[in-house]
Amino acid sequence: MLDDDIKNNIKKCSRCALCLQNCPIYDIKKDENNTSRGLICKLSGFNNGVLDEKEIKKDFKICLNCSKCKSNCPSGVDTSYIFAYKNAVLSPSKISQRILLILKLLPIKILYFLNFFNKKTVKKSGDILYFKGCIARSQHKTTFLDKMFNSAGFLCCGLPYLTSGDIKNYEKVKKQNIELIKKSQQVVFDCASCKSAVMDYPELSQNEKRKLIFINEILNSKYKLKPNSKYKNITFHKPCHLSKFDFLQIENFLKNIEGINYIPLDNPELCCGFGGSYFIFHPVISSLIALKKAKSIKKTNTDLILTACPSCTMGLRFGQLISGQFKKTLELRDFIEQELFY
Ligand code: SF4
Ligand code: SF4
Repeated sequence: MLDDDIKNNIKKCSRCALCLQNCPIYDIKKDENNTSRGLICKLSGFNNGVLDEKEIKKDFKICLNCSKCKSNCPSGVDTSYIFAYKNAVLSPSKISQRILLILKLLPIKILYFLNFFNKKTVKKSGDILYFKGCIARSQHKTTFLDKMFNSAGFLCCGLPYLTSGDIKNYEKVKKQNIELIKKSQQVVFDCASCKSAVMDYPELSQNEKRKLIFINEILNSKYKLKPNSKYKNITFHKPCHLSKFDFLQIENFLKNIEGINYIPLDNPELCCGFGGSYFIFHPVISSLIALKKAKSIKKTNTDLILTACPSCTMGLRFGQLISGQFKKTLELRDFIEQELFY
């Protein structure tokens, strides 16, 4: 059975189909079964006993969990909640959940192994904390954020657990992260997916959510940057999980850097297609989306593509590779450190 929050969200959906416009999967497959509206109708059918699990599971598997339908829904349907928690309801097999989770975390584990001998000590300071995501941790990268802020104590944001239906571990990491957020003055993020997952913790109050800021905000207000980048024309890919507010702030930040020409993408909302482990399970759909993105980037004629999510960085690099382009792609954090920081 579906829980009450899922049922209430299903009721909120007016079936208006506005979510189709931004769904990267609908853009490629043109099949409504895999869109937010289609999936909600199917869950509703499951709840009413008209459809059985088997009939709907395969359609859910194709969703990228990008949250674009959530951020563009005029009725405020929390599709992320529905799609994440439905895994716990529709996947009773603990073994399949475990296998899915292992596969989702596999790329991170491989990076961890490759960087095992590259451990560095992180300097700790202050009550502004840094939420260092799993991929950055697994790479053992020590960046200026590690030197400025304490990142100790935070666990995974929980998104990989949630999307694979492992609610027990999701609740565990969420609890520890919330305790740290409550004690902090501010928490700085450099990954859009981590920030979005933490913003979705229902236990956080609005005041606590206001403490969660993106990297550019702290730099705008407290630190002076040196405009000496070797890149003159840059563009920015908006990760699906980056909020519109953070996106506009980052655009403003980039536009105001002296000596740099910021060229926006014609459709910055276009997904990179990578979606973490999605690339492993759906290589064809993922590659088709990545090619579309690469085509859109080509039009900008820039020297550098920036983004704010390690998974998107990999997706954009993959898109460049399969489209025969070789533009440099960097995370915003690394760009700031390498090109702009004193
Ligand atoms: S999920 Fe939102 S945008 Fe999509 S059909 Fe329902 S109400 Fe419309
Ligand atoms: S989460 Fe993304 S891929 Fe899934 S239905 Fe919504 S817009 Fe489409």
